[in-house]
Amino acid sequence: MRKLTFVVLASLMAGPLGARMAHPAEGPAKAEPKSEVIVGCKDTKLYHRASCKWVKEIEKAGTRVDFKSVAEAKKAGMRPCEDCKPGS
Ligand SMILES: [Zn+2]
Repeated sequence: MRKLTFVVLASLMAGPLGARMAHPAEGPAKAEPKSEVIVGCKDTKLYHRASCKWVKEIEKAGTRVDFKSVAEAKKAGMRPCEDCKPGS
């Protein structure tokens, strides 16, 4: 009988988030990399990244609420969308 020991190392490398976002000339529109706009839905009480597919639906329904950050959305009693996982 041989025993094989497998050591699985799951290393979750969470890189430093604010690690220098200095791009001099990339994207003319928004110059605020830190503050991602969070879009909440008054109806579902879920919040999304602005790029989420549901944001279009929220706008259609007219239930959009903007938050400055995930923290703001949480304070308002909202929960993160499971598709776009804002704030993770
Ligand atoms: Zn979403």
